[in-house]
Amino acid sequence: MTEPTAQALPEPVPAASRDPRPGVSGVEPAALAAMLEGMGEPAFRSRQVGDSVWRSEAASWDDVTTLGRPLRVRLAERLRFDALAATEVRVADDGATEKALHKLSDGRLVESVLMHYSAHGARRERNTLCISSQAGCAVGCPFCATGELGFERDLDVAEIVDQVRHARRRLAAGGRHLTNLVFMGMGEPLLNLDAVVGAALVLTDAERFGLGARHVTISTSGVVPGIERLTAMRPQWTLAVSLHAARDALRDLLVPLNRRWPVRAVVAAAAGYAAATGRRVSYEYVMIDGLNDTPADADALARLLAGSGSHVNCIPMNAVAHTPWQASAPDRIEAFANRLQAAGIGVTVRRSRGQEVGAACGQLAAERSAEPAAAAVTRRHERLVAASARALAGERSGEPAPGDLAMVSSSDQVVPGRAERPATPRPAFLRPATPRPAFLRPATPRPGSPRMAGHPDRRPGTGRRPPGAPSRGSR
Ligand code: SAH
Ligand code: SF4
Repeated sequence: MTEPTAQALPEPVPAASRDPRPGVSGVEPAALAAMLEGMGEPAFRSRQVGDSVWRSEAASWDDVTTLGRPLRVRLAERLRFDALAATEVRVADDGATEKALHKLSDGRLVESVLMHYSAHGARRERNTLCISSQAGCAVGCPFCATGELGFERDLDVAEIVDQVRHARRRLAAGGRHLTNLVFMGMGEPLLNLDAVVGAALVLTDAERFGLGARHVTISTSGVVPGIERLTAMRPQWTLAVSLHAARDALRDLLVPLNRRWPVRAVVAAAAGYAAATGRRVSYEYVMIDGLNDTPADADALARLLAGSGSHVNCIPMNAVAHTPWQASAPDRIEAFANRLQAAGIGVTVRRSRGQEVGAACGQLAAERSAEPAAAAVTRRHERLVAASARALAGERSGEPAPGDLAMVSSSDQVVPGRAERPATPRPAFLRPATPRPAFLRPATPRPGSPRMAGHPDRRPGTGRRPPGAPSRGSR
């Protein structure tokens, strides 16, 4: 890991209240024009301000020298030029991976990862940015550092878009430009669908960011009503579905949302998306040693996806300390991929990027939280080992789906106000044994808010396997 290349973030701070000024990148052009008119500015100002946001590398109102200082001051009183309060960038893989940790105005932390792929044969150079849609996540997949944080809050359109503007500035400094965008950072995009769609529209608008729609991928852990709502829009974005298991008992454990929308319903909704948009769906499959990587798993996956024309990405699990699990060994991943391929399923094995900077979803943000007690980590591992054994025996989870999803029931009600959602218990193996660190608690919890507490058994990945954890060939 190299030294941070941007201003270093201060130590984590208690969640503050949010800056009430909207981020300029989330303001629609007509609203911006109306605002400038109301400020007594001539009509051409709106184009000038738009150019400063979309066609320049300015990082703050101070940098927008095409506007006079008095106007910049008045604009800064109303709008934030950058909705991200501070950003720390770490570089890995000899400069090919840049991980940015962004601090929001209320002190929450989210991550984005920029990956550079050199030109290779007929393939052109690519610069892919992975962005976050929420701070934390309510879904609570046990192998995921973001799931471990619990849900903190949705990002708004400007907070999503400005992760991309930030990366564009860094790329431009090296004479590069962004080619691909993936919503695969922190959070479940389809549980913040309005802001995610709003941001994708801004980013693919030729008058604004101007990225090609086919270069945008939205990943979901399987929010069926959200997939249906996206399908109705018939976008040209790629849909990626995080499957991780083809059998319900195991998927109940790995993706707790499966208890609400089982694997067949998810695959059927994804097939509907492919049929309506003509876009091939890709499935993400995190490879966990001895848990979901056996020949039987490959066969079940091949049967599930037979004839769908979809593609599977096998991703070695990034070690996170709150699980007892390890990544599958490379030969095991290869055998799994070969078996899928032999059954006619397109498959790619994805190399982990930026491991030295904790590139797994949410790892960097999680590392800023307090070191959990060793005893809590052990208890957590024991719970997961027991839950794995039940899943491998084919037993479906009796736990309810994560509480924040309780209100998500129809395609026109995907993103209800969080305060309206009833609190239902978090799965037992995800429940914290002790309260989460103070700096991660919200300053003023809303009454009745079902926000889930983070698990305290969290600390930077060590890759150790505790006694009794499933191992290769344990099935
Ligand atoms: N919530 C969405 C998008 C963000 S997660 C989703 O789940 O699809 C993006 C991807 O990172 C998902 O496929 C997720 O399963 C994967 N991921 C999370 N933690 C990981 C880990 N420890 N190792 C490898 N992949 C991980
Ligand atoms: Fe949320 Fe995706 Fe992480 Fe699951 S993998 S907890 S859905 S961010």
